[in-house]
Amino acid sequence: MVKNHKLARAISDANWGEIVRQLEYKAEWYGRELIKIDRYFPSSKRCSNCGHVVEKLPLKIREWDCPECGSHHDRDINASINILAAGLAVSVCGATVRSEGNKSQRTGAMRQKAPNSNARESRAVS
Ligand SMILES: [Zn+2]
Repeated sequence: MVKNHKLARAISDANWGEIVRQLEYKAEWYGRELIKIDRYFPSSKRCSNCGHVVEKLPLKIREWDCPECGSHHDRDINASINILAAGLAVSVCGATVRSEGNKSQRTGAMRQKAPNSNARESRAVS
């Protein structure tokens, strides 16, 4: 996201590394499993109803209609549904989540090792 010059400053100010560190700490504390998805996973551009991925979705577009199934989406809610689904796919099925179009990239989502390996519940995090 820092490649977007309009967002780079705000994202850097948010200190994502610290947010991730806190999530890892909290997940470990509560015996949960933290799963990170690929940074290029098209969570906003993928229709959570049918899976269609739109080519472009500028940030100023906050709501959109899927050209395939006609579903109306709030950008952020749609992304959160896709991120949860990707995390659950990794947690339940052991699936890998890759970004669209670049199959040469490494695994897009992965389990984070936790000392408490018998954790049953999961949370998806982007
Ligand atoms: Zn759709």
